[in-house]
Amino acid sequence: MRKKADHGKYSRLRGDSGQRRRVLLVSLLLGILAFIPVSVRLVQLMVVDYDYYTRLALENQTRITRITGQRGLIYDRNMNVMACNQAVEHVYLDPHELKQSQADMEKMSAFLGKTLQRDQSWILEQGKDLTKRYKQVAAGISTETAEDIRQFINENNLSGIHLEPGSKRYYPNGTLASQLLGFVNTSMEGCEGVEAAYNSFLEGKPSQVITTKGNNEMDMPFSYENYLAGEPGYDVVLTIDATVQACLEKQMEAAISRYDVQNGAFGIVMNVNTGEILAMATLGGYDPNAYLEIADPRAAASLSQLEASYKALQEGTEDYEDAKKAYQSALEEARLKQWRNRCISDGYEPGSTFKVLTMAAALDCGAIDLNTSFYCKGAEQIPGRSQRLHCWRSSGHGSEQTPQALQNSCNIAFAHIALKLGGERFYQYVKDFGILEKTGIDLYGESKGVFFDKALVTNTEKWGTASLTSGSFGQTFKLTPLQLVRAISSVVNGGYLMEPYVVSQVMDSEGNTVLAQEPTVLRQVIKEETSQTMCQLLRSVVTEGTAKNANTYGFSVGGKTGTSEKIDVLDANGNPTLDKIVSFVGVAPMDNPEYIVLVALDTPSRSTGIYISGGVMAAPTVGAVMADILPYLGVSNSYAQDDPAGKIIEIPDFTGFTKKEAEKELKKLGITAVLEGSGSVITHQLPSGGTRVPGNSQMILYLKEDTKE
Ligand SMILES: [Zn+2]
Repeated sequence: MRKKADHGKYSRLRGDSGQRRRVLLVSLLLGILAFIPVSVRLVQLMVVDYDYYTRLALENQTRITRITGQRGLIYDRNMNVMACNQAVEHVYLDPHELKQSQADMEKMSAFLGKTLQRDQSWILEQGKDLTKRYKQVAAGISTETAEDIRQFINENNLSGIHLEPGSKRYYPNGTLASQLLGFVNTSMEGCEGVEAAYNSFLEGKPSQVITTKGNNEMDMPFSYENYLAGEPGYDVVLTIDATVQACLEKQMEAAISRYDVQNGAFGIVMNVNTGEILAMATLGGYDPNAYLEIADPRAAASLSQLEASYKALQEGTEDYEDAKKAYQSALEEARLKQWRNRCISDGYEPGSTFKVLTMAAALDCGAIDLNTSFYCKGAEQIPGRSQRLHCWRSSGHGSEQTPQALQNSCNIAFAHIALKLGGERFYQYVKDFGILEKTGIDLYGESKGVFFDKALVTNTEKWGTASLTSGSFGQTFKLTPLQLVRAISSVVNGGYLMEPYVVSQVMDSEGNTVLAQEPTVLRQVIKEETSQTMCQLLRSVVTEGTAKNANTYGFSVGGKTGTSEKIDVLDANGNPTLDKIVSFVGVAPMDNPEYIVLVALDTPSRSTGIYISGGVMAAPTVGAVMADILPYLGVSNSYAQDDPAGKIIEIPDFTGFTKKEAEKELKKLGITAVLEGSGSVITHQLPSGGTRVPGNSQMILYLKEDTKE
């Protein structure tokens, strides 16, 4: 069954110790390769600024060069590789050694220009520049391309072209979880995401080379060279499950295209009892293998327009410089936008999903009970509010009790719940639910949203009543998606506010644990009984209320819808656009909650004709995520025995299969697959071989092209 293919451009791991050892061996080999003395002299020129050091060398007779250590790998919770290192080579010319005929030089530059996709005359220029000893003409080329160049050198008996081994960060899953993983820059330093937050663990200790220098800026013929060995970086194991992440992203992408969502989407899957993040996604993302490229086609198109318009102007003129600056700052902005992890960095108005917290608070302190009655006429003049308060249903919900208030998501009922709760208690619960503080997740760039000052919600004389009532249904303030997910987790997990985290373990190259992160309870916010009551109420929202679309056959899902207007986004005339963010927070299974899933879609287009609401758009998306992930995560369901979806199938390892072979096998097993990439054989898959999934599941098969420069 298991086929092996030699596509080992990157280290892979599936949890068994044999493979793990192989990965370590590869890492070790790469580490050793980088230290082959002959390459040292050249590699140092890749990592340091040549001019700077040559200047320094004139003053000092010795120089110290630091060579980056082999960067540690990043694994998901099942030891699937999320980030690894790829063997690459760098190409240098030695102009002093390149003293061949003009014909040879032409031939060399023509060949290298074509192979490296550089301008031939530029290559020729580098080769003739005798002011420098080494000129790098390409970095990070594939070993295949390097082999072609070696063959050319041998066939033509040329000297002065040098190839040196190095390594490049490689993300085998492409765009998957890109903002969470982050990326590394050309100096192999982590930027953004886990790569940045755990850089000090991942980077390892650089090795140092101390070289004696002659006055002619060349290494001395009998130079003294001392070498201090570095250490490889530590490996990082995430709480993220690549399969869950892929399911979440897949359903979010489907929703974006179905509802013509204009401004991307964000989503989180978390274990409510531990705070472990299983998936965290911001769409549209980017490919960390090409982090400088703008992935969003719309943004890329407007950038190329800006670029074309400045290039059309007369170089050196003021107009040219202004237009160039405008292009560069737009490019920078687009890059920052695609790298941004909205789940932790951006505040948004949660809308009705926040009613879960208001109701939990009111029940917990006894401000209301399950039998408290409300009456919704569709609109009501609430003393202390300057305008009549409207319910989302203009005809009103009539007479209702606490459970119906949540099921109907009735604004009028919630205003009265907030008034019974009072500003003082409302503010204290909001604080205890962690809305006023960062969650403390182990990533950089977390923000904490914007909430009212305490004085505002407690002062009934002034704006207090308006802030309190609007706040109770999630309006006129902002929080981050992760703050909301964490707070609602505490509502359903017995009342405990957890500290979310994305890294469970850091290991050294021998597999010893260097750092382990355990679930951390920060405080108990509500009583166990309140939590149990809230679970029943949240289940009833899906079975009876606004979120029927989240119902997932066989699973007990509960949750709350939300639709909020982006009041602070203005159009060209300065009026609010009234664009909407629609969301749903789902929890399952409701009899003993384990997982929470938030999906929010930013600005569904008005042109699809589909009613824009969390219940219509986000609830079914979360339902689909739940249907994909719950069986995979081993949550028991009540499928009928003859239902194919109830059958559990062990997924084979498809690596090395052709597309045809895989399709045949998939049909036999009764599962479907999405094919990514245009290569001839399967190089990678999610979930990995050996994973047990329910029948009717969908998997992803990657057909990556063999790496070429
Ligand atoms: Zn109502």
